[in-house]
Amino acid sequence: MTVMDHVVSYVLDLPPYRPGRPIASVAREFRLEPTAIVKLASNENPFGMAFAAKSRLQMLKDDAGRYPDSDSHELRSALATALHVDRARILPAAGSSELISLAARAVLLPGRNAVLSQYAFISYAAAVRAVGATSIVVPAAAYGHDLAAMQAAVGPQTRLVFIASPNNPTGTHTSPAALESFLGAIPDNVLVILDEAYRDYLCPEFQPAVGPLLDRHPNLLVLRTFSKVYGLAGLRVGYGMGDPALLDVLRRLQAPFSVSTLAQGAALAALGDTEFVRMSVAANAMERARLGAALDLMQVEHLPSQGNFLLLRVGDGEAACRALLRKGIIVRPVTGYGLPEWIRVTVGLAPENTRFLDALKTVLSRE
Ligand code: PMP
Repeated sequence: MTVMDHVVSYVLDLPPYRPGRPIASVAREFRLEPTAIVKLASNENPFGMAFAAKSRLQMLKDDAGRYPDSDSHELRSALATALHVDRARILPAAGSSELISLAARAVLLPGRNAVLSQYAFISYAAAVRAVGATSIVVPAAAYGHDLAAMQAAVGPQTRLVFIASPNNPTGTHTSPAALESFLGAIPDNVLVILDEAYRDYLCPEFQPAVGPLLDRHPNLLVLRTFSKVYGLAGLRVGYGMGDPALLDVLRRLQAPFSVSTLAQGAALAALGDTEFVRMSVAANAMERARLGAALDLMQVEHLPSQGNFLLLRVGDGEAACRALLRKGIIVRPVTGYGLPEWIRVTVGLAPENTRFLDALKTVLSRE
């Protein structure tokens, strides 16, 4: 017998998360200059870090000798002010990924289940499996969440429901009105996670006013992140908004000091950099539309996206990703989502998108 014989069976069976390939690893494999590589694979902000966060980090770099403020006091206060939400309703974490896992650990067990949509962000199902619970996967409607079917799927053992708006990788969204009636219909003992990782990219009329929703629904947990529009993916910081009693439980499950000093400081500065966010959202909208129009001309099917990425149908997604990699362009296969014919491309800077389009034309031989 070895330790491996005693690893919990549902942990042993966990599929690894398949991240976008790092630039350095693609450069090594294909003998390319790192500077010649375009990474459009992880929905990062192509402008990098919010400018205010960058300068704040310069000032903070000597501060990492001590443990961080485990309460993230300043960040929580700034979030409370910016969002008009009581600070007791805000919990910073090491990215929204950490909160997904904490929530699953808090309310699920073997025998209990979570309801989620087909094509929903893959970490949800992984977090459910990691605690030995099961996922009820509800067939998508036009690639988006079918809220009526999800509501109908909630059963006596359901303790968690996941909604992503916009969803990754489909870019689909849930309207505030649909969300509101969904929340009204879900039993109070079922935790509903609303994952708003890409909220800033949504048209303003599709962005729900979460303050009033949180007031009315103590079973709602809203997740946000600094990884996307704020450009802090490498620092690992996000936050949850929800009922203080629930957040208190999640906090007890959280590793101590899970949000580093640098992450807290950079997030605080980024939060104030509204001009960077405005510029990033505007550039994304313009380039997303340009990519969409070019794909239309190439007769490549793609879904209307409310995110900073597009899902497009290329035939053999894995082969297309490999062919693009050889040309120094990293995009994401979505076979793991049951979408083997599709690939996901992050909206980059204009020259990066042009390189992607040119390479895709050759790869699909449709020039
Ligand atoms: N939710 C969604 C929908 C995402 O796409 C991602 C990142 N891929 C996350 C959450 C996790 O982001 P992070 O942990 O960096 O906050």
